[in-house]
Amino acid sequence: MHNTTWLEFDAAALQHNLAQVRALAPQSAILAMLKADGYGHGADWVAEVLAGRVQGFGAARIEEAIALRRSQADARILLLGTLLDAEILHICSTQRFDVVIHRLEDAELLAALPLPAPVRVWLKLNIGMNRLGMHPVDFSAAHRLLNLAPSVASITHMGHFSDADNLNENTTREQCKLLTTTSASLGEAPLSAANSAAIIAHPQSHLDWVRPGIMLYGDDPTGSLPDAQKLQAVMQFKSRVIAVKEVVTGDGVGYNRRWRANQPCRIATVAAGYADGYPRNAPDGTPVVVRGQRARLAGRVSMDLLTIDVSDIDGVRVGDEVELWGNQLSASEVAEHCETISYELFTRVTRRVARCYPKGL
Ligand SMILES: *Cc1c(COP(=O)(O)O)cnc(C)c1O
Repeated sequence: MHNTTWLEFDAAALQHNLAQVRALAPQSAILAMLKADGYGHGADWVAEVLAGRVQGFGAARIEEAIALRRSQADARILLLGTLLDAEILHICSTQRFDVVIHRLEDAELLAALPLPAPVRVWLKLNIGMNRLGMHPVDFSAAHRLLNLAPSVASITHMGHFSDADNLNENTTREQCKLLTTTSASLGEAPLSAANSAAIIAHPQSHLDWVRPGIMLYGDDPTGSLPDAQKLQAVMQFKSRVIAVKEVVTGDGVGYNRRWRANQPCRIATVAAGYADGYPRNAPDGTPVVVRGQRARLAGRVSMDLLTIDVSDIDGVRVGDEVELWGNQLSASEVAEHCETISYELFTRVTRRVARCYPKGL
């Protein structure tokens, strides 16, 4: 069977990006973020490529963590901030998951719970995002409680930056300082705060554990890495031309004929649409790559199809491969046109799109 619309994944690119994390944060342990199916790259595959090269993996939902445990019997797996109850904490214990405790009530629940084996806790301080994490007063109370609890094996202190993609250091430095000073007042604990942006732009925030996500998958959220340290696309989103037609001046293309030809043009129809995860809000002019050259979206994205102006590209034929994002065109550039970020594009490619993994890894 041959595919019209598929994702190709590149293990060497993933390892290259990990090497960049390692070079930027040589003193820190690495917790690779695999939530949302490894940012849409396939959590099992990503874990397999990174296994033995990172010190742990992060999952956002208990189902994600359980699925990851099936292929990673021995890895350290952290269940990120979620809704906790006695049953989930029990699973964390039997499955040997580390768990983020982000509310004092959850700390109280855990401290009083008889568990088959103690769990490793990552205690979360609210350092300014005001999303998850405790106020320093509750954080300190939770620490003291869990420090004595037989259900707890160890405590790591963590926070999550709100503004690390801002190259101005002030906010991130303040937030980092809140974490380190609050932590220091409670004794010694391993510390973790840095996401990809902080790994790249705020070296003072690396601490004991860095938590890279998007940079492993090839995007630099700060846009500041020099050429020598550039990241590589791990996912390529591809499709094929399934029709080519000539239109005359004044013709419209697609629903409501949003795009109009202001001269005679050649339009190629591509077998990818919003039901594949290509954003419907992509405006006219959003780039794609055909025959190694840029073409531009012309007309509304439909459910299964999109249309591009290939007037300036010689010899475009039915069956030609189209790169929607990947090596030649970054997901972040496409995302910019669509008023979103690469994270969202990666995670919303739908199930019907075939996944092609390299053989051997
Ligand atoms: C997703 C996530 C990260 C990684 O963020 P990136 O911007 O993708 O590097 C780090 N820490 C936490 C708590 C996260 O949820």
